[in-house]
Amino acid sequence: MRAVQLTAWESEPEIREVPVPRPGAGELLLRVDAAGLCHSDLHVMSCAPGTLPYDLPMTLGHEIAGTVVEVGDGVAASWLGRLAVVHGVWSCGTCHNCRRGQENHCLRLEGRVGFGLGRPGGLAEYVLVPAERQLVAADGMAATELAPLADAALTAHHAIRLHRDAIEGGTVLVIGAGGLGHLAVQILKQTTEAHTVAVDTRPAALEAAREHGAHTTGTTVADAVDQLESPLVDVVLDFVGADSTLSAGGAALAPGGRLIMVGGGGGSMTVAKGRDLPLGWHVNAPFWGPRQDLEAVVELARNGQIHADIEVVRFSDTLEAYQRLREGDVRGRIVVVP
Ligand code: NAD
Ligand code: ZN
Repeated sequence: MRAVQLTAWESEPEIREVPVPRPGAGELLLRVDAAGLCHSDLHVMSCAPGTLPYDLPMTLGHEIAGTVVEVGDGVAASWLGRLAVVHGVWSCGTCHNCRRGQENHCLRLEGRVGFGLGRPGGLAEYVLVPAERQLVAADGMAATELAPLADAALTAHHAIRLHRDAIEGGTVLVIGAGGLGHLAVQILKQTTEAHTVAVDTRPAALEAAREHGAHTTGTTVADAVDQLESPLVDVVLDFVGADSTLSAGGAALAPGGRLIMVGGGGGSMTVAKGRDLPLGWHVNAPFWGPRQDLEAVVELARNGQIHADIEVVRFSDTLEAYQRLREGDVRGRIVVVP
């Protein structure tokens, strides 16, 4: 089968021929019907050797929707033929964190967190899924609409759920209205009463954010918050994570406000009392999300309350599509189909 593989660090992936995996006990084989391209893949490609504990070559792709075509011993045959979206964290299901619904913080991941992120990913014709609990069945939905739910929507929903108490009735600043951000705006609109402010350097992303329910937009944080009655916000959801966005986001926080760093843009900030952040600050860097958030976003999508803006590309065009993602030339999410 064809697979998009990273073969060396600090380089572009390649399309290669690899064997179709066979499911062992408890495992399922999915035919991949759609896979989303995430900006995190670009961060992974650009890592220096030794940064991540992944073995190369590794098939990329952690936003996967597909059809179960084969099951291993012990897996219910009723899974065969079902469309599902994949919960991408390779959690153990039994550790302390898994048992309390924090599979995304599984104690046994050892840095190889999931599909395309240390384990064989879904940018391939087939993907092996280690356990039934990694699948959320989504019969009747479109695979291309499902794939971006597996990370872009799941991660946004998890971050919003964790900070719902501060978001509710307050002002939320979304920095970066791309793949994750355009879904965050929709989730805020559908599940909270917040006033949503969206910031992106690309006017097209701001136009989409307004269509999706952002109340105020700007090309910089300063420009956006200047339009508010009060220029301070309760929660910053930073989907960029650059030095500049972290410092602008921190400066816009009201006392007691929360700076939520989702983007992996390589930025850093000093976290210290009495320095750049207001009294009573909170800083958090949420990671992906547990299965319950995937179930929640599948439900929102099924009810028509959220929908990913997608650009569908053929598998053979994946490498060019990554280049466009790098250049910021994407509306919403690129989804690869066979
Ligand atoms: P994307 O490329 O689709 O979107 C990024 C958006 O940010 C684009 O619209 C871009 O125009 C905008 N942008 C870039 N620089 C900006 C700046 N200085 N100010 C304002 N806007 C700016 O990327 P994505 O797939 O949505 O991913 C966003 C980030 O989230 C990436 O860094 C990715 O690695 C990270 N991520 C984190 C997690 C997690 O679990 N924490 C999960 C998935 C993705
Ligand atoms: Zn675990």
